[in-house]
Amino acid sequence: MKRAVDKKSGDMHLYCNSCGKQLKVENGILREDAFEAKKEWGYFSDWDTQIHHFNLCEDCYKRITDSFQIPVEVISKIEVM
Ligand SMILES: [Zn+2]
Repeated sequence: MKRAVDKKSGDMHLYCNSCGKQLKVENGILREDAFEAKKEWGYFSDWDTQIHHFNLCEDCYKRITDSFQIPVEVISKIEVM
């Protein structure tokens, strides 16, 4: 995941790894929802000992998941903690 700190405001900038769009961050809080993935690869992968991390904006998440042969499993949150 690409991160950059704004020297003036101190805000952390987050970017969608797919389209490069900057995600809205105000006072250190992400102001638009984004998909965040983190994967620690193991011994039987090509990336043993590596941790991969990326963000997708909502549009890219939709484009990528819409191409899935089997749709994303969706669970409704009944209660928000
Ligand atoms: Zn995007």
